[in-house]
Amino acid sequence: MSASNSADRPVPKPGVMDIAAYVPGRSKAAPGVKLWKLSSNETPLGPSPTAVAAYEAVASNLERYPDGSATDLRQAIAEVHGLNIDNLICGNGSDELLGLLANTYLAPGDEAIFTEHGFLVYKIQILAAGGTPVVAPETNYQSDVDAILERITDRTRIVFLANPNNPTGTYISDEEVRRLHAGLPKHVLLVLDAAYAEYVRRNDYSAGIELVSGHDNVVMTRTFSKIHGLAALRIGWMYGPIHIIDALNRVRGPFNVNAAAIASGVAAIRDRAHTDKAVAHNETWLPVLTNALTDIGLTVTPSVGNFILIHFPKDDPRRTAAAADAYLTKRGYVLRAVAGYGLPNALRMTIGPAEANEGVIAALTEFMDRG
Ligand SMILES: *Cc1c(COP(=O)(O)O)cnc(C)c1O
Repeated sequence: MSASNSADRPVPKPGVMDIAAYVPGRSKAAPGVKLWKLSSNETPLGPSPTAVAAYEAVASNLERYPDGSATDLRQAIAEVHGLNIDNLICGNGSDELLGLLANTYLAPGDEAIFTEHGFLVYKIQILAAGGTPVVAPETNYQSDVDAILERITDRTRIVFLANPNNPTGTYISDEEVRRLHAGLPKHVLLVLDAAYAEYVRRNDYSAGIELVSGHDNVVMTRTFSKIHGLAALRIGWMYGPIHIIDALNRVRGPFNVNAAAIASGVAAIRDRAHTDKAVAHNETWLPVLTNALTDIGLTVTPSVGNFILIHFPKDDPRRTAAAADAYLTKRGYVLRAVAGYGLPNALRMTIGPAEANEGVIAALTEFMDRG
């Protein structure tokens, strides 16, 4: 009899109790001050008005199960991105899809690789699936293809790559992603998490559609939580080879995407003008924030997303990330502490509305100037 059979209460399977539960970005400021939530990379523009209208319309049919295949949503995604609907699957947020991938392709003892400051959900889902997380160091807060390839073993089954990465905001070029793929054994699955792809304005970047189309071991995940402003509804999607879509469809819940999500998602992805507006807002503020904070003596990792990673001085106990976090929170600006990502002396700031961005610049200028 194994040890767990003699336990006097139910015991989670190995791996589960090693998980550090995900801590979402805070959404409370000090009492009495206006809250500016800049902690979860949500869009300052909100969702498309047509998506809100579609959401409201669903209220008159709540007794009905949703379409378990999310056909309308997959059709809209297929049209907008020029993809085959059969190669698409939707999830309750892309987080669900990441979990389905881990649960479908990892058996106990199998390894999955992610980068040093990679998105925390990967580690959680790997452990929940009974797999072994393997961390590849980054170079200058950027994913390092050689470091990933060096960590491939006989047990490797998945490589998770956030591109751009959260919380660093950095990306690697299409050429580098292809070099990574070329170095993987054919049975290792490459998961390209492109949650921020819409924001990237770089000629050498690709979200990975072409790589998925040409290979049996690559998938790309996307989300409606960021540029489409529908984080509350939990909608993610994945583009992948038919054999992987088929496997995930067996494992997922039969109605994993709800009716409000399907209806709103269709409207959101078709509103190209709204997406363009969000990109333009980001294009304006990304350099302004980066330059202003650099000018006052902070270090900002160059970002291609809708957020920036701000590093505080190493040797100044009055100007630590924790002190800045408290200083900003008191004034209503809630950023994201990223110690859980191995970045104890940094804060991640979502690019917000103009008033919030200006407010953070002013507050951090005072913070750095005070004696
Ligand atoms: C925000 C984010 C997601 C999106 O998660 P959802 O479950 O779709 O809300 C996925 N990957 C990364 C790297 C993210 O930052």
